Amino acid sequence: MHKCKYCNTSYYPRPQVKNPQACNKEECQRARQRDNEKHWREQNKTHYSKDYFEIQKDKRKKTITEKTNEIFNCLEVGKNMLNKNINLNIFREYFEQKFLQLGIRLINKLWPMENTINSNTL
Ligand SMILES: [Zn+2]
Repeated sequence: MHKCKYCNTSYYPRPQVKNPQACNKEECQRARQRDNEKHWREQNKTHYSKDYFEIQKDKRKKTITEKTNEIFNCLEVGKNMLNKNINLNIFREYFEQKFLQLGIRLINKLWPMENTINSNTL
């Protein structure tokens, strides 16, 4: 049993976690994440600049666009195979916006493509 650093409740940490700090309540996990990020920024003061943040943001957006394209390339194949007259571009824009709202962390949890499919071999 461990005591959560943020809400003081006792909980059983997952065995994979080396140094458990927080229970699995969303607000405790968010607080832990905030503390980790704060600590990281203090340790990496030279890294943490607006430029660095913007570059990372652009990288995430690029990854989301690539994932959207992979999904829609698959849909395109299906559409052509079934000989359906559907304009996928409307859906592509909608889904790309939705994916951008979700953010790369959630998308990777939902669809860990890199780990399961190597798109170069398809
Ligand atoms: Zn907690």
